[in-house]
Amino acid sequence: MRAADPGHVVVVGGGICGLATAHELVRAGARVTLLEGSDQLGGLGTFFAWRDRWVERFYHCVMPTDDHLLDLLDQLGLRERVTWRPTRMGMVVDGRAFPFNTALDLLRFTPLGVLDRLRFGAVSVLLRRLGRGRDLDRTRTEDWLRGLYGDRVWELLLAPLFGAKFGARFGDVPALYLWQRLGREGAVSVRGYPDGGYRAVIDALRASIEAGGGVVRLDAPVRRVGVAGERVRIALDGDEVVLADRVVSTLPLPQLRQLADDDLAARLPDVRLPYQGVVNALFFLRRPLSGHYWTPVVRSGTEFDGLIQMTPLAGVEPYGGRHLVYAMRYTDRESALFEDDDAAVAARWTSQLLALHPELSHEDVDEVRVFKAPFVEPVYPLGYRSLRPPVVVAGTPLLLATTAHVYPDVTSWNSSVGLARRVAATLAQAPQPVPG
Ligand SMILES: Cc1cc2nc3c(=O)[nH]c(=O)nc-3n(C[C@H](O)[C@H](O)[C@H](O)COP(=O)(O)OP(=O)(O)OC[C@H]3O[C@@H](n4cnc5c(N)ncnc54)[C@H](O)[C@@H]3O)c2cc1C
Repeated sequence: MRAADPGHVVVVGGGICGLATAHELVRAGARVTLLEGSDQLGGLGTFFAWRDRWVERFYHCVMPTDDHLLDLLDQLGLRERVTWRPTRMGMVVDGRAFPFNTALDLLRFTPLGVLDRLRFGAVSVLLRRLGRGRDLDRTRTEDWLRGLYGDRVWELLLAPLFGAKFGARFGDVPALYLWQRLGREGAVSVRGYPDGGYRAVIDALRASIEAGGGVVRLDAPVRRVGVAGERVRIALDGDEVVLADRVVSTLPLPQLRQLADDDLAARLPDVRLPYQGVVNALFFLRRPLSGHYWTPVVRSGTEFDGLIQMTPLAGVEPYGGRHLVYAMRYTDRESALFEDDDAAVAARWTSQLLALHPELSHEDVDEVRVFKAPFVEPVYPLGYRSLRPPVVVAGTPLLLATTAHVYPDVTSWNSSVGLARRVAATLAQAPQPVPG
């Protein structure tokens, strides 16, 4: 490394955070090995083979405000390969579909009374301004929004609209998270999707790391991590042990805690965040649905609480002429739904989608695939800004770069790339462990 040499750096996890960290470190001249436990890179942004295509397991898009990610795409020569399209939003309430984009749509949104519609519109325009100067990190989202919008708007619209990722816990999450999210999405209706899908970005990152002399290993699950003198000892399958001068772990903290030996576990930050997982079904349809990219589904007899339609964003070419629709439900990894059999979820959710869209028939559904992820969204407690663990685990050669570190930013590829850069810069400035 040009600034100061941290020696051999091992990055654990080959999701976007691990890939971007390794990419940054290699660019700065470090010796890097990336260890990915599965047989594919990309983590939550990874893909699966569908006929002769590669399709993301979980829906992903780029926002125009994703500066860190767009900058990385620039470095990889991929920025111009992002296609930007205006996208629209719908809402399904009690089985009825509404467009939800313009002031006129709001005025016609009959699930809310006229006064609530006006109040919703007026407060939404002012919301970001109303949050300035307030300690939103210590304010419950529900308290803040119920006060501003009233009970009915909170229950019918806001909790389903923004709360899906946190489920019933959304009301308790700091209002700062929502405030940041509104800043990221704002009134933006333009979204981007990379040509070649997210696989093109993942492949380019791997190529860049390897071209810079970094080593990328798949099927290399870390089984144990411990500090041995000034180095870190990483046990892999069999008897293989990798020694590192510094380690960057991108694993969710509960997973890392399970891998750490007793000594290291005692030094890890004592932040016990619950995480939401996700259950996600992909419908490959022979005909399009409504043309809305995102549609929250409220009180409509479905287990999924939202639909993402890729056709308005990516067209049908990436999916062999099919219209790809993701149905999702964020849920605890110990919930009955999460533990349910994929085939059973696919069958039930297909019936529910058909009931919601009577114009569709079984023949229109070419194929359904189900994917789940156990650790997606950390559920932040109030005051998390001061509880958020530092990236450096004091007194050890270990650094942490996880979704629990990006708060108050929204968990996304963009915030992970920003975090990766922060971690790489930290390593360059302090190549030796900071005393505990
Ligand atoms: C349904 C859904 C929709 C989303 N939509 C968007 C979107 O539209 N735009 C956006 O920017 N972001 C989106 N995100 C968020 C984004 O995917 C995540 O914030 C981001 O991928 C997190 O990256 P990460 O590298 O921190 O973690 P992960 O992607 O979870 O990567 C962790 C990696 O570590 C590996 N690993 C685990 N255990 C071990 C071990 N013992 N040894 C070695 N490796 C191990 C895993 O296999 C994985 O590859 C979405 C996420 C989901 C689930």
